[in-house]
Amino acid sequence: MTQYAFYFDQSRCYGCQACSVACKDWNELQPGPEKWLTVYEWEKGSFPDLRIHILAFGCGHCENPVCLKACPNNALFKEEKYGAVLVDESKCKGARQCAVVCPYGAPKFASDAPGTKMTKCTMCIDRLEDGKLPICVSACPLRAFDFGPLEKIEAKYGNLRQLEDMPNPKGTKPCFIVQEHSSKKELIPYNKTQALELMRSRGDLGTLFESIEDVTKVEGAVRNTRLKMKHASGRDLLDATRSDNG
Ligand code: SF4
Ligand code: SF4
Ligand code: SF4
Repeated sequence: MTQYAFYFDQSRCYGCQACSVACKDWNELQPGPEKWLTVYEWEKGSFPDLRIHILAFGCGHCENPVCLKACPNNALFKEEKYGAVLVDESKCKGARQCAVVCPYGAPKFASDAPGTKMTKCTMCIDRLEDGKLPICVSACPLRAFDFGPLEKIEAKYGNLRQLEDMPNPKGTKPCFIVQEHSSKKELIPYNKTQALELMRSRGDLGTLFESIEDVTKVEGAVRNTRLKMKHASGRDLLDATRSDNG
C-alpha cells in the first residue's frame, strides 16, 4: 500500500473557506454541520498584538486509525491503494464510537438525530482514480495544500504533524503534514500606545473607551481563543466555525 498524505501550510491559509465549499459541492453535502473539510479559526492575544490562527482539516487518514478499531459494526476500513480511511455506509448504524475516539473531529453527521449515519472525507478517492487531486487541494487560491505519497510529502516538507493546539499525533499518526505560520512581523513600525490611545478616544467621534485597558478587553469580541476540533453536536460545530446553515 502507498500511503497518501496531505500537507497544509498555515502561513498561506487566510480562511476563505473555498476548500470547504468545494468539498461540499463535489460531494453533494447539504448546508449544515456535515463539513468534511472544516476550517477552524481561533485568536491569540489582544489588540494590537492579535494573531488569528487557521487550520483547514478534513481527515488524517491515519496510519493508526483508532476510528476504525472503535466501530462496533466494522463500517470503517483502510483501502489499499491510497491508504484512505473510508466508511461503508451500508454497515454504519450511527453508533458514533468513531466520533468519540477520533481526536480530530473528522467523523461528521448531517444531524444530531440518533442513528444518523456517519460521513467523512474520502480523500476524494473518486478523483484520485481519475488522476486528479482532491478538490480541496485544487480549490485553494493560496495553494495552502499539497497532496501526494506520504514519503514524497515528508521529503518535501518534513514530518511535523501537529500545529499548536492540535491533538498529539503520537497515537493516531495522521497523514497530515503541517507547516506552522511564521511569527508575526511588524512590517511598518508604529507606536502601539499611540494606536491604543487613538482607538480609545476616536478624536471627534467622542470617547469610546474609558481607559486603554478597556480597548484591549472588549467583552465578547473574541469567540475562540483555542482550537477545538471535537464538537458535542452539530450546533456546537456550526457555532465554532462559520455557519453555512442559513
Ligand atoms: S482523523 Fe479521525 S476519522 Fe480520520 S482516520 Fe484518523 S482517527 Fe479516523
Ligand atoms: S479530500 Fe475531498 S472529501 Fe476530503 S476534505 Fe478534501 S475535498 Fe473533501
Ligand atoms: S481554500 Fe485555502 S486559503 Fe481558503 S480556507 Fe481553504 S486552505 Fe485556507
